[in-house]
Amino acid sequence: MTVLKCAMCGASISPEPGATLARCEFCGSSTAFEKSPSGGVGAVRTVFARWAPDGFYYPATIIEEFANHVKVLFLDGVDSMILKEHVVELQQAYKTMRFEGNWQNQGFFYTGKIASHEPLIFNYDDGDVEELMLVQLRGTKL
Ligand SMILES: [Zn+2]
Repeated sequence: MTVLKCAMCGASISPEPGATLARCEFCGSSTAFEKSPSGGVGAVRTVFARWAPDGFYYPATIIEEFANHVKVLFLDGVDSMILKEHVVELQQAYKTMRFEGNWQNQGFFYTGKIASHEPLIFNYDDGDVEELMLVQLRGTKL
């Protein structure tokens, strides 16, 4: 059994044999793995992808890339075809997006700035500081 890391919180996850995605028992997020040339699980590519219903960018992992679209898996396990212009690689997103953090994972998002990436430290605009999991961030394009 292959043990891999959840893209959203870093906990260990194990895809079922033959599967290229797995759900994390710790944070409940789903992570997609690209297929390796040998047919097994390959790399994880984490991005922020635009979720059309509310227009925010949420963390997601790439399932497959096409000419104009990217098929991504959102953390809730829903896959979606997204226009390439609405998918931002993680490091690029950190440099260019404005973020909100899900304070204490209670479902309410507040604006702030990322102070460091590993661990992910978030400085809320109101002065609170919290270590977040990636799953707790959402962004907007500036
Ligand atoms: Zn997780």
